[in-house]
Amino acid sequence: MSFGFQVTGRDGGARRGVLTTPHGAVDTPAFMPVGTQGAVKGVTQRDLEALGAEILLSNTYHLYLRPGDGLIARQGGLHRFAGWTRPILTDSGGYQVFSLAARRTIDEQGAHFQSHLDGSAHLLTPEKAADIQAQLGSDVAMVLDECLALPAEAGAARSSMERTLRWAARARARFLAIRAGTAPGVIVTNPGQAQFGIVQGGVYPDLREESAAETVKVGFEGYAIGGLSVGEPADVMYDIVARTAPRLPEDRPRYLMGVGTPSDLVEAVARGIDLFDCVLPTRNARNGWLFTRHGDVKIRNARHRDDTQPLDADCACYACRHFTRAYLYHLQKSNEILGARLNTLHNLHYYQELMSEMRGAIEAGSFQEVSSRILERRRYNSALPEEDSQ
Ligand SMILES: [Zn+2]
Repeated sequence: MSFGFQVTGRDGGARRGVLTTPHGAVDTPAFMPVGTQGAVKGVTQRDLEALGAEILLSNTYHLYLRPGDGLIARQGGLHRFAGWTRPILTDSGGYQVFSLAARRTIDEQGAHFQSHLDGSAHLLTPEKAADIQAQLGSDVAMVLDECLALPAEAGAARSSMERTLRWAARARARFLAIRAGTAPGVIVTNPGQAQFGIVQGGVYPDLREESAAETVKVGFEGYAIGGLSVGEPADVMYDIVARTAPRLPEDRPRYLMGVGTPSDLVEAVARGIDLFDCVLPTRNARNGWLFTRHGDVKIRNARHRDDTQPLDADCACYACRHFTRAYLYHLQKSNEILGARLNTLHNLHYYQELMSEMRGAIEAGSFQEVSSRILERRRYNSALPEEDSQ
């Protein structure tokens, strides 16, 4: 199966679609659990399949540094290495270079940085990011973009957006050379790989519009909106998404990077987004922060210590069907690995159910009604007082 995307239904601004990849199809809108090191923390690949996850995200920066994309290519690519047969999207590594690497400097060539693991020096260029992802063999590769330090004034945001455009053209040229077999030394482990461009421009609508138009001119199989959910107010983010999404081609998938909360997902789907990734459900799970349709639960709160109820009586996940809040509280307080695992299963189940509910609503033409109900219930419950954790 080669890469493709088809919009199968619309309801207002929301889109229902199917992404096809060399490793199978993905029903959109879809949420991608984050498997930073080629593994989603706390759960197995079998768990992820059972949860209905149809696509995972993995981080190029981490896999490049350890165990190395060369090693993974020799193992037959990331799918075979990690024992995951469904689609994978890899990021470009740029965001981690900007957020994790020790001592980094950015120039026109790329990002010079030192590994946070051993201090070794590296240069990540748009071409190098394409090469690494070709060796990993993900189904969707992302271009290297410049991540803007915030808060950014319009001038800085413009320079950064323009550099991202120049890098996008270089990344595409390299990607096409790899596809044509004219990139010697690169081991291509997934010949059907697609490449997505990234729209930048900070919180400036005019820069976003220009970035969208110019990125589309370069020409990619799909488009992402990057640089959001980095501290700006939620309504600013929704506004940028609302202005940017319609400027991307109707027949290509749209991916909102690193977003977000359940409410963010609903608001962004309403504005025409098809793909999401975020560490929130998995990272928060390990800290005992659980998302439910009745509002968020912090399982460390003393109020749950003696509670014989399940986390969410309406949830069909393994954790909710078999265990009490008191048990989850106990596991969390005693730092048992099982606590992190059960919490992660629940949160990912909640996110997958949320996406499934939205897909069904778009098909039924009831997205407006269903999304309002989800948002209202989350707003109401978030306003309830939570006891201090102890
Ligand atoms: Zn559950």
